[in-house]
Formats: sequence, C-alpha cells, structure tokens
Amino acid sequence: MDALVSLCKRRGFLFQSSEIYGGVQGFWDYGPLGVELKRNLKDAWWHDMISGHNELVPPAGAPSTFEMVGLDCTIIMHPQVWKCSGHYDLFHDHMVDCRESKKRYRFDQVRGRFVEYQGTKIFVSTLAEIEQEEDEVRRRGLKYFKLRAKNADELTIEKESLTLDKLDSTENVLAPDAKALGTLTEPREFNLMFKTTLGALGGEEDTTFLRPETAQGIFVNFKNVVDSSRVRIPFGIGQTGKSFRNEITPRNFTFRSREFEQMEIEFFCHPDQSQEWYRYWRDRRMAWYTKLGLSDESLIMREHHTEELAHYSVGTADIEYAFPFLPEGEYGELEGIAHRGDFDLRSHMEGKLDPSTNPMTVELNEHGKPKYRGSGKDLAYRDDITNEKFVPHVIEPSAGADRAALAFLCEAYTEDEAPDENGKMQTRTVMKLDPRLAPIKAAVFPLVKKDGMPEVAQEIYGALKEHYNVFYDAKGAVGRRYRRQDEAGTPYCITVDGDSLTDKTVTIRDRDTLEQTRVKIDDVVSEIQSRMKA
Ligand code: ATP
Repeated sequence: MDALVSLCKRRGFLFQSSEIYGGVQGFWDYGPLGVELKRNLKDAWWHDMISGHNELVPPAGAPSTFEMVGLDCTIIMHPQVWKCSGHYDLFHDHMVDCRESKKRYRFDQVRGRFVEYQGTKIFVSTLAEIEQEEDEVRRRGLKYFKLRAKNADELTIEKESLTLDKLDSTENVLAPDAKALGTLTEPREFNLMFKTTLGALGGEEDTTFLRPETAQGIFVNFKNVVDSSRVRIPFGIGQTGKSFRNEITPRNFTFRSREFEQMEIEFFCHPDQSQEWYRYWRDRRMAWYTKLGLSDESLIMREHHTEELAHYSVGTADIEYAFPFLPEGEYGELEGIAHRGDFDLRSHMEGKLDPSTNPMTVELNEHGKPKYRGSGKDLAYRDDITNEKFVPHVIEPSAGADRAALAFLCEAYTEDEAPDENGKMQTRTVMKLDPRLAPIKAAVFPLVKKDGMPEVAQEIYGALKEHYNVFYDAKGAVGRRYRRQDEAGTPYCITVDGDSLTDKTVTIRDRDTLEQTRVKIDDVVSEIQSRMKA
C-alpha cells in the first residue's frame, strides 16, 4: 500500500488537500492523472448504467425492459429533507475518550469495534460475537451492537492494557457508571452531517446541511421526473455527485474521506416485482466491477442476514473489496445494494410513521403525529395502463466513486520484470488499468529528436488526440519514457523510429504483454480504436 500511495503522489494521481498548509484530514485532491481516472470511472458508470442503456431490449438477467434517466441535484437542500430522510436524528456516530491516554475512540459500524480517533491502527479488539456477526453490526450500527452484545463477556483494549471483563451488556461499554469503564468518558453522539447556514442572519432556522448522500435529491424529484419525462415504472434515476460526512476517523487514504463522490441509482418498481429487481441489480453491479478489472478473488458480495434487515427490506448486499490496507481476510465496502421498500417516498410524503411498523422512525410528537411532517405531496404512481395506484418500491445501488477509483488503483498496481535498454531484466512498476479507465490511452514517442521523427510523431499525436487523451514525449531515453507510461497506466506506446520514415510504419507497444507490433502510420488511429474496444 505504501508503494501505491507514493506512486499516486509521484505520478500525480492523488494529493492531500491543502498540503502546503499541512493538509486537512479526510480531504483529497485528484492530480492530473487522478482526475482523468476518476472521470473515466464516472463516465463508464454513467454510460453503462444510464446513457448507454437501451430501454427497448431487456438486458441479460433483467425481468423486463426498463428506462434509465439522470439527475444533477444540489448539495444543499431544504432542511426538512434531512429530517424526513432520518439523517437529522439517526445519522450519528458515537465517540468515547480514554481519560488516561487522552485518546479518542469512535464506534466503527463497519467493523463493530471502537477505533482510535486519529492514526491508522485499530487498537481495540472486537467482542468475539460481534466479530462473527460483523455484517449485522454493519447494517444496524450501534443499535444492533447494543442488542447483540448482551451475551458478550469481554472487551479488551489492547493498546491501553485495559480489560473490561464480564460485561453483561454492551450498554455497559457506553455507560459512564459501569465499574469496568472508569477510564472512558461518557459516549457522545456526533452527527456526521456538515452544518452550514443559509443567508446572512444565521439563526437556528437557517441551519442546513451539506448532503451526506446524493439519494435524497432523487427521491424529492421523483414526481418531477415522472411528470416531465414520460418514464413508466419500472425505471431508474441515476446521479453522481459530491457528498459530505464529517467522519470521526477518516482513514486509509481516500477510503474514508469527509468529502467524496457517490454514484447512486434509485430504481423504482412495482412492489410485487421488487425482489426480482433487487437480485438483478445486485448481480449486475457486481459484474460491472469485474468487467472493469477487479478480480473475482478480491471481491465479495456480502448478503445481509434476514434478521438484520429493516422490516420493509427483502435484501441488502454490499460489494466489498480486499483493500491491501485491511488485515488479511477483511474487506471494505465499495457499494451497497439495498431494497428500501417504499420507505423513502413515503417519508417524504407523510413524514415519519408509526415506530412499531417502521424501525427508522423517530419519536411521534405528543399528539401521536409524526415528529417531522413530510411534504404532503402525493408521491404515489398511477399506472396509466392498469390504472393501479401504488407507492413504488425502491432498489438502491449506491456506489462511491473514490472508493471504486482506489480499488482499481490497488488492483492495477503490479511489479513485474521487463528488459531495460540493454536487454537486462529489471523490476518494473506498472499500473494495469483497464483501457477504459486509463488516464492516458496512448503515448507517442519519436525515438530521437531528429531526422524528421518528431514531425511524424506529432502528426500521429494530433490524429489520436481528436479521439483520446494522448501524451507526447520526446525527452530522454525511450526505455525511461516507457517506464513513466507504465506507472501512469497508459495501455499503448507508439514509437516512431528510423524505419518509420521509409516504410511508413511505427511500433505499438502493449503495456501488459510488452509485445511490440509494427503498424502502418495510416492505420494507427483505427488500430488503437479497435484495441480500446476489445
Ligand atoms: P461505511 O459503512 O464504510 O461508512 P456506508 O455503509 O455508510 O459506508 P453508504 O451510506 O451505503 O456507505 O454509502 C454508499 C457508498 O458511498 C459506500 O459504499 C461508499 O462507496 C461511499 N462512501 C460512503 N462513505 C464514504 C466515505 N466517508 N468516504 C468515501 N466513500 C464513502
């Protein structure tokens, strides 16, 4: 991982935000190569999921044809959106401080462990039972943790040499009066949404939030899309864009950032067909990652257990990747695919519902009414053929662009052996990125800067540049130029040499196989195009 992090900086994939001022934790800038990679990734997602979707033919495995459209919503929305979505009341993390070491820990819902606030190591081991039930913990977070840990009998804080034994309830872990917890402060709730103020006055009623997910923009525009674009159920709405979470423990490079980008789909369907659509999207999204180069061995689909699902949900699955910074056998989430029932549309219609039927509900007010009023707008859908009216069910494939970019970078990083100028085998670092994702598609080199070679190379460069991001490099030994492009992940290098001037051919070198083929100069563009499509 260290080698990858250093390559990312050295070659201009990723820089720490505000680095010259010492950086800000949890914020990352994409450099010249990184921005191309991330853009290619989002374009691939947008094309494969939205704009390239053919609504006339059912794709393989789909229960029927369907439509896909896009949206681009604002980052700041009406504050009521976050009350009805549940984020205002429920989007919390929990923090405790150790009085002795003055270190701060947060409950990491993914791992079901307390983790140190800053730094890179996890110091606190989990309860064995929670370890086994890790994905349940992931689904329900702290609530579930409290519940499941009833039988747990010990929590060891290795770093601090504290042993909290014979806990009969994990409530105790968080309770200030539990004898074993004398050194931990009372847990504090910490809302992950970034607050901001609308307008100049800055009163409490002007407080709003930077969105912690892009999904809510889609739900609140559901009616606008149906009314304006003639889409019929089943259909999906996709959106990519920035989201913000004031994570207590930003860590592992870009994996957990405070500002990040999501690629989300809300797929609206008839309740009777929702299970089939859930399965379809789960499998299709998994296949997308493997098609773009993540290996089967490094990817898992973690299906949540039935007992941990919200009452409205028939399924939730996470696509996870074996990031190299995680311990052996651990995986990090790339994307969650959730069956959300009609929860979101209904919340935005009616506000929060009866807690006995809706576990995400916050308390009712003293009149037994929802604590937060919904929009009062009718978000039900009427089928114009059957005349049936219903609130659609939603399947939500929710991916992170930064986590996916990081996974592709991790997967691509390879050290192999290649001959240098003198034919001697040397270790080479090469980023084996899928050509669709590669920041630069081809590099063009004149072997030497004389004898008309630069002119020919520049002509080829110009012709290719109309189609792709191409790089021209005439400086230094050609072997070194190849190495630079290998580290950038450039799939093809085109070299103009002495023979090119007489036989009008050039060599195309393949990044992965190192094979060099002679191709007519006139055919270079079509050759690269056909290789890119292969
Ligand atoms: P985690 O459990 O890792 O915090 P999550 O389950 O809260 O993630 P979701 O709310 O399901 O994540 O968000 C959907 C996707 O957005 C995630 O699968 C991930 O790819 C991305 N994502 C979420 N939080 C972050 C973050 N802090 N930094 C980078 N990407 C993130």
